[in-house]
Amino acid sequence: MKNLVLFGPPGAGKGTQSDKLKEKYGFVHISTGDLFRYHKEHQTELGKRVKEYIDNGMLVPDQVTIDMLQEEVNKNPEATGFLFDGFPRTVPQAEALDAFMQSLGSAIHHIIALDVTEEEVRTRIEKRRAISQRIDDEAETVNRRINEYYAKTIHVLPYYEAQGRLARVQGIGEVEVIFSALCNILDA
Ligand code: AMP
Repeated sequence: MKNLVLFGPPGAGKGTQSDKLKEKYGFVHISTGDLFRYHKEHQTELGKRVKEYIDNGMLVPDQVTIDMLQEEVNKNPEATGFLFDGFPRTVPQAEALDAFMQSLGSAIHHIIALDVTEEEVRTRIEKRRAISQRIDDEAETVNRRINEYYAKTIHVLPYYEAQGRLARVQGIGEVEVIFSALCNILDA
C-alpha cells in the first residue's frame, strides 16, 4: 500500500491532480474539504458543528478533522493506497496522521507539495470565484482561507522537510506537465 499526501495552498491544483492520480493509480482519494462539504450539505451532526468554520474560511479544529479522517480511512479496509488532499493542514494533524498510519501498520510514503506563489493562488481563485457555487469562494472568505494557509498550514512543510520526507513539484504550468512530474516521483 502506498499513501500520498498532496500538499499546497487553496488553488494550487490539488483537486485537478488528485483526479488524475486517482485514475492512474487507483488511490482512495480523501479530501477533507469535500467530506466537510458533504456533511454540511446533508446537515449531519458533524456538518452542523463545522458549518461556521467552513463558511468563514477558518480551519475546523484539529480533533474534529482527525476523527473524521480516521473514520474515512477505516471505511476503506480494501484500499491499496490513500491520497490525502487538504489534510494535514496543521502540524498536530500531520503528527496524528503519522501515528494513525503507524497504528495500521502503514505509513505515508510520499509527501508532495505543489509549489505555487501566493500571487498565482490569488489570481486563480479570483477566476474560480466567477464560476463557483461555493459560499467560501466569496472574496472576503477566500482571503481568510489563504490567510489561514499562510498562518497555520505552511508550518507543515518544515515539519516534513526536517524529516527529509518532502518532495516539491512546480505547480505552475501545464496540467499534464505537472502530472508527469508527480508520476515520476511516485514511480521512482
Ligand atoms: P478545501 O476544500 O480543502 O479548501 O476545504 C474547505 C474548508 O474545509 C476549509 O476552508 C476548512 O474550513 C475545512 N477544512 C478542510 N480540510 C481541513 C483540515 N485538514 N483542517 C481543518 N479544516 C479543514
